Amino acid sequence: MKTSKGIYLDYNSTTPLHPAIKEKLLDWTEIFANPSSIHQLGKETSEIIEKARKEILELLDLPHYNLVFTSSGTEANHLAFQFLKEKLPSRKKKVLISSIEHPCILYQIEKLSKLGYEVQKIPVSKNGLVDINFVNDNLDFDTAICSVMLANNETGVIQNLKEISEICKEKEVYFHCDAVQSIGKMELSFSEIDADSFSFSAHKFYGLKGIGALVYQQKPKPIFVGGMQEKELRAGTENILGIFSFVEGLKLTLETQSQEILRLQKLKSKLERELKNLSQNVEIIAENSPRLSNTTCVILKGIPNHVLVHKLSQKGIYISRGAACHSGVWEPSHVLLAMGYSHELAECGVRISMGIFTEEEHILEITNVLSKLLSN
Ligand code: PLP
Repeated sequence: MKTSKGIYLDYNSTTPLHPAIKEKLLDWTEIFANPSSIHQLGKETSEIIEKARKEILELLDLPHYNLVFTSSGTEANHLAFQFLKEKLPSRKKKVLISSIEHPCILYQIEKLSKLGYEVQKIPVSKNGLVDINFVNDNLDFDTAICSVMLANNETGVIQNLKEISEICKEKEVYFHCDAVQSIGKMELSFSEIDADSFSFSAHKFYGLKGIGALVYQQKPKPIFVGGMQEKELRAGTENILGIFSFVEGLKLTLETQSQEILRLQKLKSKLERELKNLSQNVEIIAENSPRLSNTTCVILKGIPNHVLVHKLSQKGIYISRGAACHSGVWEPSHVLLAMGYSHELAECGVRISMGIFTEEEHILEITNVLSKLLSN
């Protein structure tokens, strides 16, 4: 996207609102009645929400699942772990979480360990793929839950979840899949993955921020209580505009997904070719692994990522550093560290993520600017 503000290449962080959604927003505000009100207008809103819920499940090809709207992908991921509050056999005290999950899931490690669970981090290899042998060897009938994301937000690496899900089924383990980064960037069949739950977030596919969903088979215990909304699974008046933007964003994205994936793949190949031509000190992360069509994670050895992100930002090009902020301190990407990169190299990793408004000229411009920065 090239706006008056520059070139946006940070789509994995968030997407701009789809123009078709922007156009409809004002009209959508006409549907304002509280869906919990028993008068006609309330009933109408409630029916529209139920229709949206059904439509999303059909679009995702998960018609036999249920869906609860949340405030975000973060909340949906937290809700999935509420499964542990169900009445489970007392032996089920083991938890497996991949080491490259989003921080909102990694947070569970400390929390659950304090509660007496034996939490194991599933390692990943240098190619960004989680170690299936580790899952095979460590997951058993004493495991309560296993959580592995579909596609990583930093590297774009896509996991083979069908295999993990099958192991979970065999051992009667609840399998949660964070699918937040997947929509519009890869061909996929959610029903084939056959997870117990999936999480999504509309601002990753051109919808509004502040609306996500947990798609589940078995109703978890709610986090927010004190209201009957969402079949008592999430108290609080529904985010109607958010829900509309979720359906519309999903519909629009899936409609053009196949062509868009091909287009993005071409752009990504071009970008990575150009990046490698810049210098021998360039390494494309997980280059040969199955990856999202829009994501390039690259290490420019010797250039700290915060320096690079700021320098590009000054030139009106917006990318992301693969890093997390913990208690006000920036730490190198836990994903790159888990893949075996040193602190020094991980601190040089940046993510370039593209979307529907990215064009070839943006790729040429970023590589041009990088080439000048590297030669200085
Ligand atoms: N999971 C993944 C893989 C993500 O990339 C993100 C956001 O970047 C989230 C979860 C959290 O989603 P949200 O921003 O909607 O809370």
